Amino acid sequence: MIVDVHTHAPRRRTASATAVVSTSDRAPMRPDRPDPAGVTWDDYLAAMAVVDQAIVFNIASPPPGDPDPLSAHLTGSVFEAPARAVNDNTAALVRAYPDKLIGFLSVHPRDPAMDDELDRATGDLGLRGIKLGPNYQNFDPLSDEAFRLYARAQELRLPILFHQGTSPVRFADLDYAHPRHIDRVAMHFPELRIIMAHMGHPWQTDCITVIRKHPHVYADISAQHYRPWSYYTCMRLATEWAVLPKLLFGSDFPVATPQETIDAIPHVNDILAGTALPRVPTEELQAIVERDSLACLGLD
Ligand SMILES: [Zn+2]
Repeated sequence: MIVDVHTHAPRRRTASATAVVSTSDRAPMRPDRPDPAGVTWDDYLAAMAVVDQAIVFNIASPPPGDPDPLSAHLTGSVFEAPARAVNDNTAALVRAYPDKLIGFLSVHPRDPAMDDELDRATGDLGLRGIKLGPNYQNFDPLSDEAFRLYARAQELRLPILFHQGTSPVRFADLDYAHPRHIDRVAMHFPELRIIMAHMGHPWQTDCITVIRKHPHVYADISAQHYRPWSYYTCMRLATEWAVLPKLLFGSDFPVATPQETIDAIPHVNDILAGTALPRVPTEELQAIVERDSLACLGLD
């Protein structure tokens, strides 16, 4: 069984002439790809044909009137909207394909309505985990408000997928997405299931140090294969530090598709031709694709 643990819900059901507004402060994640604003439910479903199950979500923007001046720069992009709208959108897609999709909610730790939205999204909407992007949402992942959310997540057995690592978004604080912070989160919430997205790229080494020591902290391999040196080095480091079993399959659709992520695996060593550099054991990488990620996350 193949589970894609990292996919973004299209913001629209069908194609439309009216584009979703993108802020001018962000460069595209992959300039060579179709604009994510144009992705429809049909596009999503076609890309997911190759997987058995997918975890789907988007990211709640900072709450209206948030006192931090940087928050005003972080609303209105294709993957972010106020929490209620994001969660309603995710839940609508999951309701249409309940056998295939597992929805994660998103909330903001500084939102006064956070607890109510958590109740609504896990209750009426049936969402089963949490997606957070501390850099995109402009919150300190080690703040008291964030810890209050993690405590609720642990109590409700909701796994959290954190965006980790760099981003081209100008006003998204890089430090908030640095993988070293997840170590302290995991020490305070040892039963919380956590996925660190993108192996924390380009800080994969730091991500590896965290997943190595915490039994319930995993990393996904999404959005890495198209940077061949990064992909090779992180998989080689993961091999040497014996954390390949802590890696989960994910695509970050629409940034990449599950099929191209699968197709890239046998090619991880291609850049080694003519060198004496050590190889990544591709058989062990194949195991990531078939990993029982839902059991790892307590969602089976
Ligand atoms: Zn993503």
